[in-house]
Amino acid sequence: MSETPDRTRPSRWAENGAAQPGRRVVVVGTGLAGLSAALALAAREVSVTLVGPRYSADAGRSDTRSTALFGPSLDFLERLGVLQRLTARPVPLVGLRLVDATGGILRAPEVLFEAAEIGLSEFGMNIENTSLLAAFAEAVAAAPGIEWLPAMLETCVIDAGGASLRLADGTGIEAALIVGADGEHSASRGHAGISTRAWTYPQVAIASRFAHRRPHGGISTELHRRAGPLTTVPLAGNWSSLVWVEEPSEAVRLMALDDAAFALALERCLGSALGGVSEVGRRADRRAACGSGG
Ligand SMILES: Cc1cc2nc3c(=O)[nH]c(=O)nc-3n(C[C@H](O)[C@H](O)[C@H](O)COP(=O)(O)OP(=O)(O)OC[C@H]3O[C@@H](n4cnc5c(N)ncnc54)[C@H](O)[C@@H]3O)c2cc1C
Repeated sequence: MSETPDRTRPSRWAENGAAQPGRRVVVVGTGLAGLSAALALAAREVSVTLVGPRYSADAGRSDTRSTALFGPSLDFLERLGVLQRLTARPVPLVGLRLVDATGGILRAPEVLFEAAEIGLSEFGMNIENTSLLAAFAEAVAAAPGIEWLPAMLETCVIDAGGASLRLADGTGIEAALIVGADGEHSASRGHAGISTRAWTYPQVAIASRFAHRRPHGGISTELHRRAGPLTTVPLAGNWSSLVWVEEPSEAVRLMALDDAAFALALERCLGSALGGVSEVGRRADRRAACGSGG
């Protein structure tokens, strides 16, 4: 039988020294992973130094992503005091529609999975990253024991006794442990000597948000197409977030369209699922990449 951990007690790890004065844990990176790690460590009474750019509403606007969070992740963020600070209400995901849009002669029937089928009011919540990052920044500011240094990690020497870090503004820090949460091209991973192997796929994802005439009803729609999936996830009101995966040349063409032409192309692709597409937000594109640690 598994034992429920006592989250009010400092962890054995903290008792063993990471929380002692001068035995800090440094979290490098201030995205969703770094901010979560800093708050979770601070909740265990570990002294944390957070290294990376501070959240700013202007910089946040360039993040067009939203994050669909399910039960355990929502519980975790609630315990860390993040969900309570969201200014925009998270949007419940009550259903998931899968559509075979491969254009083959034999089409799989459309499937709708509903949370109610398994006795849940929703599968999870969709939250825009800008809103989530702002709530995280507030929770970190309110948490005792977190020092936030808004500079980039420049160099880091790691040995058996811990790590010595130097930041771009010249600050030096000694750490018992480093949490590398500095994203895809992690500098801390490189300093730790962890090699990676990376490759790309002939696919590009276009991320955006759009307004539509028909209500989404809390349902996320996935069109499974030959070039890649096109997924819509409900946002507040008659808005949905979009991840549209395409072949690179088609993605270049779609990115070059003006908003009205892009809206029309999206509407055609979605068929009647959400009605007319009336407005499209900022578009961002990303080559599909994969990597593995070595
Ligand atoms: C279109 C799209 C939709 C997605 N939807 C979902 C979803 O629904 N659910 C889900 O779970 N995931 C989703 N993801 C994935 C998810 O968004 C990412 O995995 C997650 O945001 C990564 O967070 P992170 O904190 O690891 O990295 P990042 O967000 O990349 O943050 C890294 C941070 O490190 C900082 N940094 C970088 N270098 C340094 C340095 N040298 N020193 C200090 N700081 C540094 C950066 O400034 C940044 O703040 C989606 C991704 C995309 C592209």
